[in-house]
Amino acid sequence: MRTLLRPIQIRMISPMERPCHNDGGVTVHRPLISAPHMIVPRRTDVSTPVNVVLIGPPGCGKGTQAVRLAERHGIPHISTGEILRGAVRAGSELGRQVADTLVKGSLVSDDLMTDLVRERLAQPDTARGCVLDGFPRTVVQSRVLDGMMSAVLLIVMLIDVPDAEIVRRMGTRRVCDACRLTQSVSDALHPDSEPCPYCGGNLVRRPDDEPETVRHRLATYTASATPVIEHYRLRPSFAIVDGRQHSDKVAAAMAAHIESLITNP
Ligand code: ADP
Repeated sequence: MRTLLRPIQIRMISPMERPCHNDGGVTVHRPLISAPHMIVPRRTDVSTPVNVVLIGPPGCGKGTQAVRLAERHGIPHISTGEILRGAVRAGSELGRQVADTLVKGSLVSDDLMTDLVRERLAQPDTARGCVLDGFPRTVVQSRVLDGMMSAVLLIVMLIDVPDAEIVRRMGTRRVCDACRLTQSVSDALHPDSEPCPYCGGNLVRRPDDEPETVRHRLATYTASATPVIEHYRLRPSFAIVDGRQHSDKVAAAMAAHIESLITNP
């Protein structure tokens, strides 16, 4: 079992609501708001930069939510996993360096990752903010990111989903080898290479979605994410969102958290 906090609709810690007691080593926070079920409209006021970090186990819906957030705020979605997989596909020097690590589901070195993200955040399209998906994954990376983001508000959200649900989801996850869209098939034994309903490409299992690798990735996630969550959890800008909800509800909960921080910084 992972040792992460029990999910509720959404739990936010505002300056008025510091942790209220400590129960056997687990800091307990007062439960807060539940988000309305709604389609989240695109924001028209883009004056405040929005820098978001999404944390969550593989298969928690982080990628989907990151795309939605990026679209809503008109900011880039920076997925370190996607950058690394792209490098492997392109056969670049970076790709050759990380290919084995990716297939094993282990972590790429902090030095390499922080250099890569520093370079990406230096691009002009991040001036109004960005959604970081997959970074930071270690406390070292979190500290380096704090340094890079010292002048702006960093909003950190954890999408929490229990392990059993993750294993079920990963068994049915496929990605199109042409349009790269991630999709879900009806059962885990569904054959690879079915045509993609959107573009006709092949729906295939990602090599790191094989069940053995998923278990390793979950163990790696728990070991690395727990201290990262501890690094952020007392900040007012940190929130936990229940990732078992419908993705519209997850998006609404995130939007509510971001709006509350932007309107009452
Ligand atoms: P997941 O689908 O497990 O959420 P990602 O797509 O974010 O994973 O990343 C895929 C792989 O890329 C990871 O298993 C890891 O090997 C590597 N990786 C991505 N981001 C990082 C990071 N910040 N630090 C170290 N390794 C990373």
